[in-house]
Amino acid sequence: MKKLFWYLLLIFVVLVMLTLILVVDKKLDNKKEVPQDQTKEKLSLLNNIDKKIDYFHYNYLDRYLDYQKKYPNLSDIDIVTRVNLGLDQPFYQNTKPSNELNKITILVNKYTYLPEDYVPNNLTKVSNLFSTSTRELVYEAKEAFEKMAAQAQEDGYTIRVISAYRSYHYQKGLYDNYVSRDGIDIADTYSARPGYSEHQTGLVVDIDNGKLDFNHFEETEEFHWMENNAYLYGFILRYPKGKEDITGYDYEAWHYRYVGKEIASFIQQNNLTFDEYYVRYIEK
Ligand SMILES: [Zn+2]
Repeated sequence: MKKLFWYLLLIFVVLVMLTLILVVDKKLDNKKEVPQDQTKEKLSLLNNIDKKIDYFHYNYLDRYLDYQKKYPNLSDIDIVTRVNLGLDQPFYQNTKPSNELNKITILVNKYTYLPEDYVPNNLTKVSNLFSTSTRELVYEAKEAFEKMAAQAQEDGYTIRVISAYRSYHYQKGLYDNYVSRDGIDIADTYSARPGYSEHQTGLVVDIDNGKLDFNHFEETEEFHWMENNAYLYGFILRYPKGKEDITGYDYEAWHYRYVGKEIASFIQQNNLTFDEYYVRYIEK
């Protein structure tokens, strides 16, 4: 009799667990609802790419198709990637708060912003061997940057931080000045609005070589050193040439983002922007 009780209890527990698993699974699967018959035809227009990638959102299907009509030469993967980023909407529209606060995989761009009061944890001063004045980075990025700058120095090059962490209010001052000088449309091509600056993450450096102005960094030997070595220390060129339509920024040879060695190598090898990487491998 006692045995029977334990058997029944065991069956009950197993049933409860199975129900829980099913409920959780259903929740996770919400964005991947099984398509209705009428959407099958639409999916075939995208060559059923939904079966091949795990970041396809069925609720964006019409947006994908609209974007495909607008840019018929883009691959299906690029269409999905760009719409997931929000690029089918104008910059600074349909924005959302960043949900990776204090992670090195945090995304900040013209659709994803940081709270006004966000200050990353573990901000640490960069050694003044490699900085023009007091500059701060998140500890992990600071360590990586100093290693990189020290190696560059050993190889005979100079890499100095000229800007690193910037607070929301500091960025607001910068942006407002640019807008009053150049107007909003031009200012938006090279300066981030407050809350939308990657510098607020504490994972970003603007650099120069101590001789030429930073906006001539591309012409320096140090730039070529960075092209070949930055990823080894976990840094990527964040706003590359030819990707302006994805990043929303003019090419910036001097702006590097810390993402860790593994992601930096992958991005380097696959010629991606961090925005594309984020959509395909982090957000999903
Ligand atoms: Zn910058």
